[in-house]
Amino acid sequence: MSCVFCEIVSGRVSAQKAYEDTHVVAIHDIHPQAPVHVLIIPKIHRASLNEFDEMDSNQAGELLMSIPRVARALNISGAYKTVINTGAEAGQTVFHLHVHILGGGKVSGLV
Ligand code: 5GP
Ligand code: ZN
Repeated sequence: MSCVFCEIVSGRVSAQKAYEDTHVVAIHDIHPQAPVHVLIIPKIHRASLNEFDEMDSNQAGELLMSIPRVARALNISGAYKTVINTGAEAGQTVFHLHVHILGGGKVSGLV
């Protein structure tokens, strides 16, 4: 089954990368909802946060630890919002786990 984020991780589909390490790649969202809108994508395929507990704890920890690293790389450490949509009714459209990082301006008020 094809997955656009697996294709981006493998390099078969191009994306504007903001950060990459052994465990994750961060790309600029094609439809940004804030001045800075990046998606952190674990390199291993998991459909959603519901499968997060099927990652080993190192992979899971690395995904969380990448959040401040990406924020620093983008110079938005002072203020940013993180969002993970789970399920279509919550707004999930790509069924490969990813963390939205929104910043670069006022991003309060969503939650
Ligand atoms: P979701 O709605 O699943 O939480 O977030 C999916 C996000 O991925 C959306 O904000 C959408 O704009 C973004 N997106 C979908 N396909 C692509 C793509 O091919 N490239 C990039 N850079 N972003 C994508
Ligand atoms: Zn995938």
